[in-house]
Amino acid sequence: MRFFVFLFSLLVIAPVHADSPRRPFPHGQEDKAPEDETPNPTADRKEQRSCTLNFNTWAKRKEAPETHPERAKDYLFSGEVMQKMRSLTQEWPGIIRGECIGRSVRRHPIWSFHIENPTRPTTYTVLVFAQLHALEWLGTEVVVKLAEQLTASAPEGVKVVLVPIVNPDGRDRVERDLLNDRVGIYRRANANGLDLNRDWSVNRDITSFWAKLPFTKRYYYTSHEPLSQPESQALDRLAADIQPDAVVSLHAFGGYVYYPWGGRNDPTEDQREHQRLAEVMIRSQSNGGYITVQLGKWANWFKAHGVEIDHFYGKYGAKSFIIELSHSGINLFDWDTVRDFFRWYNPIDPAPHVDNGYNAVRGLIYDYAYQVRKAGIDTVP
Ligand SMILES: [Zn+2]
Repeated sequence: MRFFVFLFSLLVIAPVHADSPRRPFPHGQEDKAPEDETPNPTADRKEQRSCTLNFNTWAKRKEAPETHPERAKDYLFSGEVMQKMRSLTQEWPGIIRGECIGRSVRRHPIWSFHIENPTRPTTYTVLVFAQLHALEWLGTEVVVKLAEQLTASAPEGVKVVLVPIVNPDGRDRVERDLLNDRVGIYRRANANGLDLNRDWSVNRDITSFWAKLPFTKRYYYTSHEPLSQPESQALDRLAADIQPDAVVSLHAFGGYVYYPWGGRNDPTEDQREHQRLAEVMIRSQSNGGYITVQLGKWANWFKAHGVEIDHFYGKYGAKSFIIELSHSGINLFDWDTVRDFFRWYNPIDPAPHVDNGYNAVRGLIYDYAYQVRKAGIDTVP
């Protein structure tokens, strides 16, 4: 499968985007703003993009499209995501609260949602976020389901912090593409055209000889400096604040659970615990068929430098995971799915894939809750 994906991406993306002016960023045209996007005069301004908005007031004005485009008929648009989160914060005020963690390049607020069971103090904290990458909507669906289920029965002793959309500008562009029926636009980046998943601070040095070979060098790249983008800065500030025990970053596609290192071959000191938790997640799925591997060992020609899991593990010591949701929505016998990048990452029916992602993350959270409960029982005289 991994060879197939590699070959397929070489054949399809490489010729299309080979003349991108923004090498070595490998995918090309995703940094182009859609024609209907208003220009952004503040894009290059270096400033602290702090955010003090009140979630419930802000979300009241969020609107959703009246009808969904057929290609995304069972997916939530960001307006609907925020409306759902607003009704949860209103229904369960002592359990869940929304907090703005910063602003994107285009000054959209980035929201976190903190879920805590007030009956027991927090022993463990789990951070789950989605959509570093603009086209990968499945992760947001998983976060919404986690929010709905965990507020109704919040785990004891485990605080869960959710960020449904880390890259609201990229997401907004994909929404515009869908609403205007634009097909075949590959979007991964934020509004500065940067891949937020190569903007982190750990394992940035590219030394592999594969980085020099013509067909593999496109996979070897980082941003110009660590934490150069407001979206990654916001997430890093959040992690510094909550000091998570575990971090899950939701992506698509592949059916993998990856753990660090991504930019190195050698194992981390916590290899066994990473493997154990990854296996807990995979066993918690009903029909996922996912596999787990150290990201830097996905294939011998592949390394991912400056990725988020290396950062959250290397800087904060959090057990860190990437889940690549689904095995893709591409059907090689259906050209409409091959030419539509949205469909690559987001199968037509999200439900079974959302369940697999939800069950995996829930398994991780309840592994910690079990440890809290067990420690409680053990200390009873
Ligand atoms: Zn991704």
